[in-house]
Parts: sequence; structure tokens; C-alpha cells
Amino acid sequence: MPEVSSSPAKPKSAPQKAMEKLGLVRDIDLALHLPLRYEDETRLTPILQAHEGQVVQCEGLVIECRIELRGRRQLLVRIEDETGAELLLRFIHFYPSHQKTMAVGNRIRVRGELRAGFFGREMVHPTFKAVGDDTPLASALTPVYPSSASLPQAYLRKAVAAGLRRAPLEETLPAGIVPAGLPSLREALDFLHHPPPEAQLATLEDHSHPAWQRLKFEELLAQQISQLQAQRERARLQAPALVGRRGGLHEQLLAALPFGLTGAQQRVGEEIAQDLARPQPMHRLLQGDVGAGKTVVAALAAAVAIDAGWQCALMAPTEILAEQHFRKLLGWLEPLGLKVAWLTGSVKGKVRQKMIDAAADGSAQLVIGTHAVIEDKVKFAKLGLAIIDEQHRFGVAQRLALRKKLASMALEPHMLMMSATPIPRTLAMTYFADLDVSTIDELPPGRTPIVTKVFADGRRDNVIDRIRDEVETRSAQVYWVCPLIEESEALDLKNAIETHAELSAALPGRSVGLLHGRMKPAEKAAVMAEFSAGRMSVLVATTVIEVGVDVPNASLMVIEHAERFGLSQLHQLRGRVGRGAVASVCVLIYTGPLSQTGKDRLKAMAETNDGFEIARRDLDIRGPGEFMGSRQSGAELLRFADLQEDAPLLQAARKLAPMLLDRHAAAARRHVERWLGTKAEFLKA
Ligand code: ADP
Ligand code: MG
Repeated sequence: MPEVSSSPAKPKSAPQKAMEKLGLVRDIDLALHLPLRYEDETRLTPILQAHEGQVVQCEGLVIECRIELRGRRQLLVRIEDETGAELLLRFIHFYPSHQKTMAVGNRIRVRGELRAGFFGREMVHPTFKAVGDDTPLASALTPVYPSSASLPQAYLRKAVAAGLRRAPLEETLPAGIVPAGLPSLREALDFLHHPPPEAQLATLEDHSHPAWQRLKFEELLAQQISQLQAQRERARLQAPALVGRRGGLHEQLLAALPFGLTGAQQRVGEEIAQDLARPQPMHRLLQGDVGAGKTVVAALAAAVAIDAGWQCALMAPTEILAEQHFRKLLGWLEPLGLKVAWLTGSVKGKVRQKMIDAAADGSAQLVIGTHAVIEDKVKFAKLGLAIIDEQHRFGVAQRLALRKKLASMALEPHMLMMSATPIPRTLAMTYFADLDVSTIDELPPGRTPIVTKVFADGRRDNVIDRIRDEVETRSAQVYWVCPLIEESEALDLKNAIETHAELSAALPGRSVGLLHGRMKPAEKAAVMAEFSAGRMSVLVATTVIEVGVDVPNASLMVIEHAERFGLSQLHQLRGRVGRGAVASVCVLIYTGPLSQTGKDRLKAMAETNDGFEIARRDLDIRGPGEFMGSRQSGAELLRFADLQEDAPLLQAARKLAPMLLDRHAAAARRHVERWLGTKAEFLKA
């Protein structure tokens, strides 16, 4: 074969590779790579006027340069400025080039933190350069960029400056759109990369400067436009209209339930039924505190879909949770003559094939499982409704995959996502422009509030005594949670195993079980079954029990190293008790000393049982970005804006987005492209 002549690609240098790793590829990426902070090299401070602890730039003549050999080997350089004041420079790491640049008689400019040393004023490892009599000072503050070890600041600075010059930063927005008083994007970026010496550093650092505001506004506008686009696209999609028949499955299930629905359950059930009846795909988040009763609402929605002649899929993040849903729904729906299939990683061989066939030929009306449900091999004949439990545990790609299970029919299934991490409504609206939200804000009746107590680990033995009491006198059932302590799974396991042995010894004649991530699904299921059936008194578990487990008789929850858990995780765990009529207690054992956020979290837990209040406090402690988690939404796409802090800009962007899309469609498209590029896809999930 003739060789195609092409100049071989130049090998990339280490800094180039490092830039790629940081996502700095296009000019626009570089232009949007903003400084972390600035260094002021625009002025010189006379040596005598510099304060101890201050970072300053000074200039002077070298009057001494020698290597000190006694004690630690180091290079000592002494300089003197016009006023005759002296400054000692100390270098523990140095090269021959240091001595050359700082030879006696040379004029040098140094920058570093001033210290009061034994021999007078000094700087350790200052930056330095040789200068002439009138080498100009920097005319702008010097940017310091987020970087990595193999990417020197000087290299990055040059690359950013070049990218900034070349980047296409022309105005995308029609006149009159940008809030008054904000500079153009070009002006804003020039300013932020190279602020003049008189710039107010504080407003740059807290991002309140108009240049920052402009950037955040641009970004929020891109987010709002693309969410609105996604919403409009969805409105054009078709879904099967699902209406339950009078006297159909839905009503039969209601009649068969051992309890009546709460008002909140009825209300959200109605909201969902209305969505299902429309020929556009539902995209609804059902949120409600732990134990609020979301499962039965999901089951009723499934009954409507099945009654209308369609299939329903239910996906849960863990095998334990999927299994629990399976048992519960099987118990409710099988008596009504429905066929329920079960699909997880541990269903293998012939059985698996049977399940897959039942989904594909439509004979399984309901398919329950884990991620296995969205594998390529799994196809649905008539998927009408897809339900995702604990949706925040799934990624965007997985939600999209589930939606695509019906693509062959040019229809999309309805989607119901469930979450026990209630999100304050305003936040939900801005994060999920393309999501309707239903909230269960009422717990089923007859629950006794959980009492939460916080103990230092010194009182662990008292806690064990208390457990023994509860188990012996009241036949209580107890969860004991051992968290992730070390990075090492083996150590965690050891910890759980030791606790298990200790509690077994403390409770002779009682069954104490152990549940952890290394166990096979069948082993886990067997342990869970013992505990559910009430034959096991104590279940020692690593955080595998975090999500959704429902054993109403369990009334005591102990969480060790509670300070290591996030607030919503603690609340989720606590929600495993207090599910029946028995008064429940949650004991949080911490190992001090506690950080301030650690204290705040435990205090919040002790003070309230209300998931919404917990969510609000969590939001305060962590800020919205972390609170939502990167997988939850398009939040991770926001680099500059903060949804809470920048609420006024967000409001402005929200108002403008529809107008831009309607009247300036091309500009809107360009704007989204600049800010989000290919990431815009993600906002649709
Ligand atoms: P979550 O919202 O955390 O998923 P579940 O759906 O697991 O909560 O429900 C928690 C418990 O409450 C279950 O045992 C469920 O059967 C029960 N439950 C649900 N709704 C009601 C109700 N209206 N009245 C009484 N018990 C209910
Ligand atoms: Mg649940």
C-alpha cells in the first residue's frame, strides 16, 4: 500500500498535555479559565515600609551573595535599596543560575512574604529577577491560574493571554438584553485576566464585580435557554396516553391495600394520573421524606399503565432495594393476576433469558430490577411507564437509557423519578426547568416521632447496655451502622466484623446479623429476610442499608462515626426506623474532635425529623452545588454562577430565555453553543 504522506503529529509537550487534562483546548476554554487570585507586581515597596507577614515586591542592589555551609546548606543574598535598608533572601533549594542572577552588584526585583528573621528582615524563597535601572513594572495585576504540577504558571499565563486574544468573544446577545451596568463579555474577560492596579481586589475575590456578574449572567442564560429548549422538545414528543379503566387494576389495588392513602398521597397520585393521561411523556419527580409512602404511589401509577395495556419498568439503585420492591409489589399485584419479572445482576443463565424474553414479548407487565434493566439486551414490547427510585443515585446517561427503551415505536415512555432527598421548591424549579415536581408532605398516620440522641464514643458501652435492655425487655430490633472509615474496604469490613462479634457476645441467645458490600446478593437477601421476619434482633451493617429498606418493627438505629456522614445520608439512615407504631430512637455516636460542619450536622439531626428542614440546613452547610450532587442535574455545568447567591441574575435569565428563543433563535443557539457546547445534551435528561 502506498504510504500516505503526512507530516507526523508533533509530540505534545508535558505542559500541553497538562492543559488538555484541564480541558484547556479551544481558545474559548482558555479565555474562560479565570484566575484564582492575583499578585500585585505593579508597585515596589521600600524595604523599610513593608510589614512583617505582608507579601511585597522590593527592589535593590545585591551587596552580598554567599553559600552558608554551617548548619543547613543555603544560599544567602543580601540586597540594599535606595534608602539604605537591607533585606536578606534565603534559598534552601538553589542552582548555580541563582548565584549568577544575584551576583553582587546586580539589581534585582524580588517578591515574597516579609519575615522578621534573626538577622533582620528577610524573605525565604522569594521570586526574583534581574532588572535594569528602569525595567517597567507590570501594568496590570498578575493572574494566578488554577493549574497542575506539570503546568508552570508562566506557561499557562502565556497560553491564556494568547487564547484570550484569539477567542471569538463577539456579542451574541441582542441589544438591551444584558442587565444595565454590566460590561461586554470581551471587556469583562480582559478585565478579569488583567485587572488594572487600582481594581478592588475584594470585589474580584467575592465575584461581586460587574465583570464577574456579566460572566455569571451569560452562563445562567445559557443554562436557562437550554433547559427551555429541552422542555419544548419534550412537548413535541409523543407518549401513549394511559388511562385506567373504571373498576380496573388501579381501583382494585386501592381496595386491596391494608391502609387508606394519606391526603398527600392522593394528591400526588392525581397529579401523576393527569400526566399519564396526556399523549406527551410525563417527566415528574416525586419527592417525599423517608417513609412518606412513595412506593404505593408508584405502584398505583404502574397499575394505571398496565390497565391501559402497557408495560411498566421499575429501576432501583441496589439489589436489596430492588428485591424489596419486588416482594412488595408482587404481594400487591400478583393477586390481581399480573406477571412481574425480576432482573438484576445476580439473575443469570436460563432464568435471566426468561425474564428478558418476558419483557421483550410483553408478557411481563411489570419489570423490576437494578441497572440490569437498562442493559442493551433488555427490550420492552410496550414500555408505557418507567419509574426510577432514589433517582439521585443514577446518572444522566442511565436515565436517558431507560427513556430510550421504547424508541422503536417513535414514542417515549412516561417517566416517574422518586427521591427521598426533598429539595426546596425554588431550588427544584431552577435546577429542573424540565421537570415537574410532586411532593408528599405528610407522613402516614400513627407514626411516633423518632427521638435522636448524640453521644461521644466514650459512651459506646452505655449504648450497648441500652440495646441489651431494649432487646430483652421489648424484643426490639436494632440496626447498627458502621460507616466507611478508611479508604480501604478491608479495614471497614474488619471494623464491621469486630462490632458484630462484640454485639453477639453482649447478647447471648439472640441472633445478631452482619450485612456488608462484599457479600453475594443471595447472602444479603438471606440476612435481610431474617431481619424482616423478626427472627434477628440486631443487624450490623455497613452503609448498604442506606437506601429504602423497610422493616417496620425496627425501632433502634445506632450510627457509629456519625460525624463522617453527610446530613442527608444520616437522615436517610435514620428513616429506616420510625416506620411502625413503636416509639423509635436514633443514637448518633461520634468520635471527636468535631469540625464546625460536623457539629452543625449532628445538631440539625438532634433538633429536627423533618426532611425538608434537614434539606434546608444541608443546603446552608454545603451550598447548592454540592447539595444537589453533580449527577442530579445540569448543576455541574455551572462554573461561575451560584444558584443561591446569584438568584437575582438567575431571575433575569429565566425571564429572558423564552423571549430569546422566540425572537432571536439564532443568537440563542450561538449563545448555548459557546457556553455549553456538547454538554447541552445532558440538560435534557
Ligand atoms: P418511602 O417514601 O421512604 O419509599 P415507603 O413507600 O417504603 O416509603 O413506605 C414506608 C412504609 O409506610 C411502608 O411500610 C408502607 O407500606 C407504609 N405506608 C405507605 N403509605 C401508607 C399509608 N397511607 N398508611 C399507612 N402506612 C403506609
Ligand atoms: Mg422508598
